Amino acid sequence: MKIVCVGRNYAAHARELGHAVPEQPILFLKPATAVVPFSPGFSVPTGLGTCHHEAELCLRLGQRLSGAVTPEQAFAAVDAVTLGLDLTLRDLQQTLKTQGHPWERAKAFDGAAPLAPWLSVAECPDWMQATFFFSVNGAVRQRGRVADMLHDPLALLQDIARVFTLLPGDVVMTGTPEGVAALAPHDALVLGFDNGPRWASTVRVA
Ligand code: ZN
Repeated sequence: MKIVCVGRNYAAHARELGHAVPEQPILFLKPATAVVPFSPGFSVPTGLGTCHHEAELCLRLGQRLSGAVTPEQAFAAVDAVTLGLDLTLRDLQQTLKTQGHPWERAKAFDGAAPLAPWLSVAECPDWMQATFFFSVNGAVRQRGRVADMLHDPLALLQDIARVFTLLPGDVVMTGTPEGVAALAPHDALVLGFDNGPRWASTVRVA
């Protein structure tokens, strides 16, 4: 199982980090060992600078998707959706980028992908219209809408399938909206769909 992540998929987030909006999706991977449950709590690495939250809509594949696929095939291949965090050691990522090195040390570490429980697409048939939020200590930090994505989920799956064959169980994290910021020990977190379930969590002391 692998996680395919998408960078800069919301224009406002690309701007907040000072980046140009990319013409084609920026793709990177996290290994299966990055996944941990979002609830009841998770720890973040210490001693490596700031660890940013990136709240993202996540898709799980129920079918193989490879090569040229239609939007209809891409839609049919998704069997579950949820929300998760693409945890990012931002200071380390910046250092690696400056050095021209890959990002994995900053984004693919153990526990770098806390994921809420999966909702089957039968439970969530309108997921392509999803809107979601992420709050820290009672204040909403991020709001996401599929409608604001530069590349919608089906376009992402079409692009990804040409690069990496997606297998049943693989996960796609669709990029983060603006509002990324550092997490601190004991932060109280809530990740939720506006018209659906929400999950509470805490940043544990490592
Ligand atoms: Zn991300």
